[in-house]
Amino acid sequence: MIIAIDGPAASGKGTIARRLAAHYGLPHLDTGLLYRAVARVRLDDGGALDDPQAALSAARGLALTEFDEARLRGAAMGEAASVVAAIPAVRAALVDMQRRFAAQAKGAVLDGRDIGTVIAPDATVKIFVTASPETRAQRRALELRAHGETIDYAVVLADIRRRDERDSGRSAAPLKAADDAVTLDTSELDIDGAFAAALAICERARKHKP
Ligand code: C5P
Repeated sequence: MIIAIDGPAASGKGTIARRLAAHYGLPHLDTGLLYRAVARVRLDDGGALDDPQAALSAARGLALTEFDEARLRGAAMGEAASVVAAIPAVRAALVDMQRRFAAQAKGAVLDGRDIGTVIAPDATVKIFVTASPETRAQRRALELRAHGETIDYAVVLADIRRRDERDSGRSAAPLKAADDAVTLDTSELDIDGAFAAALAICERARKHKP
């Protein structure tokens, strides 16, 4: 079973994907880490993020096993990732790696922005997780404060809106729900409620497409 989870920043898709993977005993790939890792390499090199050739070399040099997640987390890296993710050649260079991960014999759970549309168009289940920008900003602000960061809600909301706009407006694999995805709005749900709703969607899809 391949489970494709897409959605905007802080929609809850990562948590849902991790919990579904644990529930079904499937490997999980947070594909945002790939773009974050490309951005990290470019920032470490001190070059411009939107230099297509340099970003492409960084993407080609990535290995799934080499992620230092601690250096990839955080809003600033997410923002940088969305700049390199808008470069078509970078996306193309990362497709095979993601498709290989999805093609594992037992199946896989992948979360990102284009899993249901580009990476795994034949996925067994496609869920588009969403929530209002205000709810997402609220969650992100709480999360950052829990990690000891002093953060202003208005700044977080502006960041989220800017990232949504860049991810949805780019020409290469923009953030959008696949035609056959089920939309799950988590605005009014807590983590357990969102997971239960996602699980129900998976179970329904499994009956039709084992
Ligand atoms: O999901 P996360 O916030 O880690 O993603 C960081 C950025 O990477 C996103 O804002 C998006 O621009 C990009 N991304 C993407 N396609 C994916 C996953 C992430 O374009 N499949």
